[in-house]
Amino acid sequence: MNSVANRPTYWLTTLGCAKNQVDSEKVEAMLAEAGYAVASTPSMADVVMVNTCAFIEEARRESVETILELQDERRDGARTIVLGCMAQRFGTEVEKALPEIDAVVGLDRYDSLVPLLDRFTYGPDWQPVRLVRPAMDILHLVNRPAPTMPYAYVKVAEGCDKPCTFCAIPLIRGKQRSRRPPNIVEEVEGLVAAGVSEIVLVAQDLAAYGRDIDAPGDIVDLLGLVTAVEGVERVRLLYLYPKEVRPRLVAEMCQNPKIASYFDLSLQHAAQPLLRAMKRPGNGERFLQLIDQIREADADAALRSSFIVGFPGESAEQVEELAEFLEAASIDWAGFFPYSAEEGTPAAMLDGRVDPDEVSERLRYLSSIQENLTAEANLASVGSRVRVLIDQLEDGSAVGRSYREAPEIDGVIVLDRGSVGEWVDAEITSAYGTDREAVVVG
Ligand code: SF4
Repeated sequence: MNSVANRPTYWLTTLGCAKNQVDSEKVEAMLAEAGYAVASTPSMADVVMVNTCAFIEEARRESVETILELQDERRDGARTIVLGCMAQRFGTEVEKALPEIDAVVGLDRYDSLVPLLDRFTYGPDWQPVRLVRPAMDILHLVNRPAPTMPYAYVKVAEGCDKPCTFCAIPLIRGKQRSRRPPNIVEEVEGLVAAGVSEIVLVAQDLAAYGRDIDAPGDIVDLLGLVTAVEGVERVRLLYLYPKEVRPRLVAEMCQNPKIASYFDLSLQHAAQPLLRAMKRPGNGERFLQLIDQIREADADAALRSSFIVGFPGESAEQVEELAEFLEAASIDWAGFFPYSAEEGTPAAMLDGRVDPDEVSERLRYLSSIQENLTAEANLASVGSRVRVLIDQLEDGSAVGRSYREAPEIDGVIVLDRGSVGEWVDAEITSAYGTDREAVVVG
């Protein structure tokens, strides 16, 4: 046993989305409570773990590569545990393909992690002298390790009830399960007490929050509670299903000064026949109307979206339709993802596969249109004043974000001065691609 202060150690690598990141942090808090410490390197750890992603083929490949890398790095006698979506969805396949792995623990069995590590560390007959935590879904755990950034993701629900034909998430994470508002507020209070001032709310279908529980209120009511927590300076929402973005939510997001007027709308495409084949509502025209409604409520609202390219049957005309939509919508940020046929999803049975080289070409074409739009939007903001949260210091500069930039997926603002966690008013002095420069004015 390689101990930190005589405590057994583990190493945890996290892959995938912000929701997986939150899961890892809750696992870390659970292990710390049980007396386990984080190793400084994988080769120092008694147990190495990978919190995997299984969203698409590419993510699964990365998960396997990461598991094998840690296998090579771990010291003799150390154990390997696979967690996350791949463990949940393909647990048996992972065990067969990688027999040298010591355990595969799916999302709904994280409460068995501490007893498992105890067995690995102290042997099968060891009896814990500490209180054993009753079985519970880690979704509801409120403890988190000390934050490393002045922002933190808070997962308010797990799973999804939507029928999108390309998506395996409901097969992995199940039906939507919302947390109760007091449980969420307690977690937010803990994060604020630990120095966080921007809360990024996440879920698979965030705007549908609360629909599955008998607690009063929906996402707008939850926003009222979270923004009322003293010390919360900014709340940001990620993963908004367009049809769930109703006028009441738009008004709250545009009028509540503590909420980033930042709309992360997962539109996926603009061509109606494709959206119907995806079992998704709307079309380019409807989405432009929604964007107009948002901009009527706040002309400076920031918009992000994600699009699937190469969905079965996608024609060159439909790619053009999406390109025209991008030009007309002029959204600030967008991600483009190649369609991935996911086993068990209805879309995987569809004919009309698009040649992979053609998909790459379409991705290049659409991404280049968006890069120009993003750069133009940033250039147009030169001379404006924004409130910036400083996330980190880099090469002697303070680096932060305004309401327009979500962490880790959008650009940043490089400032002439400031310290981590500080909120400053700044004037944008220049812009280059996704990033901007600014001087602090107060
Ligand atoms: S709403 Fe999102 S998570 Fe839910 S099924 Fe559709 S794509 Fe998947």
